[in-house]
Amino acid sequence: MRVQVAIVGGGVGGTLIANRLRHLLHGDARHETNITVYDAHGIHTYQPGWLYVPFARQDPEKLLRPEARLLQQGITLLSGHAGNVQRILPAEKRLLTADGELHGFDYLVLATGSRNAPEDVPGFAEGADHFYSEEASRRLQEKLAHFAGGRIITGVASVPYRCPPAPLEFTFMLEADLRERGLREQTELHYVFPINRPFPIQPVSDFVAPLLEERGITVHTFFNVEAIDPARRIVSSMEGEELPYDLLVLAPPHKGQDVIAASGLGDRDGWIPTDRATLRVKGYEEANIFAVGDATDLPVSKSGSAAHYQGHVVAETIAADVQHRPLQHQYHGRVACFLETGHGQATFLWFDYEHPPKPPKPRRLWHLEKAALNTFYWQLIPPARI
Ligand SMILES: Cc1cc2nc3c(=O)[nH]c(=O)nc-3n(C[C@H](O)[C@H](O)[C@H](O)COP(=O)(O)OP(=O)(O)OC[C@H]3O[C@@H](n4cnc5c(N)ncnc54)[C@H](O)[C@@H]3O)c2cc1C
Repeated sequence: MRVQVAIVGGGVGGTLIANRLRHLLHGDARHETNITVYDAHGIHTYQPGWLYVPFARQDPEKLLRPEARLLQQGITLLSGHAGNVQRILPAEKRLLTADGELHGFDYLVLATGSRNAPEDVPGFAEGADHFYSEEASRRLQEKLAHFAGGRIITGVASVPYRCPPAPLEFTFMLEADLRERGLREQTELHYVFPINRPFPIQPVSDFVAPLLEERGITVHTFFNVEAIDPARRIVSSMEGEELPYDLLVLAPPHKGQDVIAASGLGDRDGWIPTDRATLRVKGYEEANIFAVGDATDLPVSKSGSAAHYQGHVVAETIAADVQHRPLQHQYHGRVACFLETGHGQATFLWFDYEHPPKPPKPRRLWHLEKAALNTFYWQLIPPARI
C-alpha cells in the first residue's frame, strides 16, 4: 500500500518539504509514496518582499507565484476549499477539508504559518499601519508618499512576531528614506519594543542600540501595546506609557492559525508544542506528526530561514522512516538572516540554539546578498536546492 504524506501549508516550509521528499523517495519502487500539499489559497507569497513595498522598491505582484508551479511533478496540490484544512484528527490519522472530505495520512506535516491578530489590540485596525500583509504594505506606501513630517512611531506590538529584524530594518530604511527626501529634520522617530531591549537577542540588541542612537531614534523599551486611540492618535502600553503619533507602524500581534486551535493542537495562542530537535509534535510522538516554521512554539525566530532548515530535517526524517533507514537528522536551532541597516547596507545574523549571533559591521555586501536572495528565492528555497 502506498504511504500517504499530508503536508498542510504550501508556504516556505511545506513547499520545501514536499519537493525534498519527492526527490528523496522518487524512483523507490519498494516504498511508493503519495505526497499531498493542502493549501488554503494555492498562491505562494514571498513575504520578506513586503518590507520594501512601503518605499516603492518592490512590486507586490512579483512576490506571488502559483503554488502548482513550485511543486515537482508527482506531488498532488489541493487548494481552495479542497485544500483548506478545517480539522486535524490525529487519533484517527485523518484531516477534514472545507469541501467536507476526510483524507487519511500516515505522516502529517503542519506548516500552516502564523496569522496577524490585530483584533488583540483595541484600535489597531483603525489606528496603526504595518507591512505584514500585501494590502497593508500597499496602504503604507500611499501614506509614506504623502507624509510631510511629524512624529512617527515604529516597532512591535507584542512578541512573538514574524521575522524579528523586520521592524528594525523598516525603521533604519525609513530614517534613510526621510533623509533622502529632505524630511528628516521635520520628523521625530521613536521605536517601541515589548521587552527590556530593542531586539530579542542580546548581542543583536547591543549591536543595534548604538545605531538607533546615532540615527536619532528614541527607543522605548518595556512597551507592550495595550490600546490605540485613533481619534486622539495616542498609543498606550500595558506599562502605563502614552505616546502621541502622526504615523504609527507596528508589527501586529501574531497567533497560530485557527485550524490548530480548532483541532486542539495548539497552546493558548495557537502555537504547536514541538520538540526542538526532532520537530515532532509533542504528545503525538508515535503518530508521525511534525510541525515546522512559524506554526511551532520553538524558541527560534519565526522566519523563513528557520522553516527552511527545519524543512530539510523533517523531509530527511520522513524519508528515512519510510525506507526503514536509521535516523540521524536533528534540528539544532539554525537561523540565518540579514538585517538591513539603511543607506544600502546590512549585517548578517547566523546562529543556533548553542551559538548566539555575532553581527558583523554593516556593509554593502550583506545588502547585496539579501537583494540576491530576494531575487533568487524562487529558484533556491522552494525547490530545496539549498
Ligand atoms: C515583512 C516580513 C519580512 C520578512 N522577512 C524575512 C526575512 O528577511 N528572512 C526570513 O527568513 N523570514 C522573513 N520573514 C518571515 C517568513 O516570511 C516566514 O517566517 C515564513 O514564511 C514562514 O514559513 P512557514 O512555512 O512557516 O509559513 P508560511 O510561509 O506563512 O506558509 C503557511 C501556509 O499555510 C497555508 N495555510 C494556513 N492555514 C491553512 C489551512 N487551514 N489549510 C491549508 N493551508 C493553510 C497558508 O495559505 C500558507 O501558504 C518575513 C515576514 C514578513 C511578514
